[in-house]
Amino acid sequence: SAGPALLFVKSGQGKEEGRRFYACSACRDRRDCNFFQWEDEKVSETRLAAREEYNRTHRPSLTHRQNAERYKNFILLPLSKRRFCQECQQLLLPAEWENHSGHQFLCDISAAQLKTPSQLLYPLENKKTNAQYLFADRTCQFLLDLIIDLGFRRVLSVGTPRLHEMIQSKASQQEDFRVRSLLLDIDFRYSQFYTEDEFCHYNMFNHYFFGGEAARETCRKFLHQGNGERVIMVTDPPFGGLVAALASSFKKLMAMWKETEKEGHNQEMPVFWIFPYFFESRILEFFPTFSMMDYQVDYDNHALYKHGKTGRRQSPVRIFTNLTPSMIVLPVEEGYRFCTICQRYVSSGNQHCEICNSCTSKDGRRWKHCVLCKKCVKPSWFHCTKCNCCALEQHSCEKMDGGCFVCGKAGHKRSTCPRLSCS
Ligand code: SAH
Ligand code: ZN
Ligand code: ZN
Ligand code: ZN
Ligand code: ZN
Repeated sequence: SAGPALLFVKSGQGKEEGRRFYACSACRDRRDCNFFQWEDEKVSETRLAAREEYNRTHRPSLTHRQNAERYKNFILLPLSKRRFCQECQQLLLPAEWENHSGHQFLCDISAAQLKTPSQLLYPLENKKTNAQYLFADRTCQFLLDLIIDLGFRRVLSVGTPRLHEMIQSKASQQEDFRVRSLLLDIDFRYSQFYTEDEFCHYNMFNHYFFGGEAARETCRKFLHQGNGERVIMVTDPPFGGLVAALASSFKKLMAMWKETEKEGHNQEMPVFWIFPYFFESRILEFFPTFSMMDYQVDYDNHALYKHGKTGRRQSPVRIFTNLTPSMIVLPVEEGYRFCTICQRYVSSGNQHCEICNSCTSKDGRRWKHCVLCKKCVKPSWFHCTKCNCCALEQHSCEKMDGGCFVCGKAGHKRSTCPRLSCS
């Protein structure tokens, strides 16, 4: 089990308020986890017993400690005896080979492969909750260079295994490389490659450390900035994740950082929260000190989100940060420029609007100002007098059926949810 369940709302047909239910906070999709219970439902003894059984059998078979021991033995093996079972997603010791007969192996696992587990493991593909979108090398390198240029020496990597692995492998190869990283992730497969000081099995939807107090202490120690080693948290949660749940966990991690601060001035732990731009208003609700950067975050295994020149889809994923925007230097060779009025780097297509007095584009394209809406809107939108709002020309003015994914109320879809932004 992934820790406490969260309360959700299921929208009913035509009803104003949906019926509330509990679901596992790690797997909101019922296809991925069988935990589901209406808020007002009585649970039978047999259901409880079945749930116990499910939790028992779905627990990882090896502990992190055991996996770390196995790793030590694994690297002592000659290349010819180093195998990885692709079906079980597990490094195998020779005595275990026969238990995996009929499974597909990767053989001759090199030191380089062990240092890039995100390429050895297949990305989890569960649609809403655990889809793993790995940073393109260009983006990962950009993030690390930025972190170093800003003077940080420690990175709390929350759901960013590829950034973590880039830092770990540089640290092991270059003697003068001073940055360290701690990975917090729900993907327990990583426990095979990292020690308990390098990886904590963690659920960012409910701030749950599977390793208990010891793991919590590892995190606390890491956040304590000895010798002036500054810490930044970088997180790239699954986009189906509830912003409220994520924000509550991040606030707890930030509080943990603050407790270790002896000086106790009114500062926040620096954060990069990587998330799609259409969640901007939602994130700012929880973190008013954050602002959104124009940098387009690119992924390896996300065909739609490749960095695009004209004609290709552009990534909607951005960096939200509580650092001063002018300090986030974006690569000029990729078309970003500095707006002296806004005091931040913006996309090349992002024009400064005289009326809004800011560079208003969110998606990199040039936006246009609507005097009736009193704001800039997407280039493809027109002002609709019936809706009293700008929208696509071919939108339907009638209210839509079915509930909204974000707030559970009927009458609009997630993309036009008033809780996200006015559209
Ligand atoms: N771009 C990042 C990966 C982001 S994919 C990189 O390249 O490093 C989202 C990550 O969050 C995955 O590693 C996934 O395992 C992790 N994750 C998903 N749900 C989680 C949860 N509930 N708690 C902690 N981590 C989670
Ligand atoms: Zn196997
Ligand atoms: Zn404007
Ligand atoms: Zn308008
Ligand atoms: Zn309309």
